[in-house]
Amino acid sequence: MSNSTPNPSRRKLLGALALAPAALALPSLLRLSPTRAETNPDPFSGHAAAIRHRIGEIEIIALADGRGPITNDLIIGFNDTAGRLAAKAAHKAHDPVTSTISINAYLIRTADRLIAVDSGAGAAMGPTTGAWLDSLASAGIAKENIDTLFLTHTHLDHVGGMSNEGGIRLLPNAQLVAAEAEWAFAHDDGVLSALPEAFKGMMLASRAQLAPYAANRAMLAMDQETEFAPGVTAVPLPGHTPGHMGLRIESHGEALLIWGDVVHVPAYQFTHPDWSVAFDADGPTAIASRRRMLDMASHDDLLVAGMHLDFPALGYVERRGDAYRYFAAPPDFRV
Ligand SMILES: [Zn+2]
Repeated sequence: MSNSTPNPSRRKLLGALALAPAALALPSLLRLSPTRAETNPDPFSGHAAAIRHRIGEIEIIALADGRGPITNDLIIGFNDTAGRLAAKAAHKAHDPVTSTISINAYLIRTADRLIAVDSGAGAAMGPTTGAWLDSLASAGIAKENIDTLFLTHTHLDHVGGMSNEGGIRLLPNAQLVAAEAEWAFAHDDGVLSALPEAFKGMMLASRAQLAPYAANRAMLAMDQETEFAPGVTAVPLPGHTPGHMGLRIESHGEALLIWGDVVHVPAYQFTHPDWSVAFDADGPTAIASRRRMLDMASHDDLLVAGMHLDFPALGYVERRGDAYRYFAAPPDFRV
């Protein structure tokens, strides 16, 4: 990767990638299907975790997939002085070159549904990711019992754990639910052909993860919210990708917003919501979605969850002037 800030056409190109931040930041880890031996003797052990929380009568389980690096030159607007101050305000460590971010997934359990939300990065991104299935098992959830897999979007750090290397579904009984625009984006051959050769494989890897679910999928419109299970509503949050969606979960007066990739780098983007990432498909729209969600979460005192918030990635947002602060949610002893 270049060390300079990508120019607009470069950003547009990067935005088209079905590619994860860590993979962008570390080309040396750009391996599509490494065996365990190639990466680490046991890459999936050591970081599995599951944290439960209740939203009325709905249970949410935060599932750790791992963590990955993102170089700060991929954060558009970043400068070291402001970054250092933002990290201090967020009580986060500041590294002038590379930030480490969590990669998370979630499980929603209602009275009669088990809904997985994203599937982590799987084996495609090196030894620090791929714990999602172990986290699921540690929560006592059999993957065969999951009836729905909702995807916030199709970048590889969100779809990498859906299928195995043989093209077999890892959630054999789950219907895929995602935005129709996202499915079209992931399968757009024009987007694929415009990619640099080295990156085409990453988009193809995402497609390979999606393919086993093609025959059993429900596609959602981006111009409306869709309640696809009782109390579980898909919310369009375009910008990061054309079909990026979050979920609003409501039950008995309690609410949670799972906002997908509205925030990638918690150390900086709560203080600087206008700092975007190079792999946003549409930077200005992504910033608008982020500002809208931060404003709503702080105004409504909403519990929020996100795939790159610090695990267990359940917390609250408070407004501070033009900026925001994130506070991790306390344990929920009801579960
Ligand atoms: Zn992501």
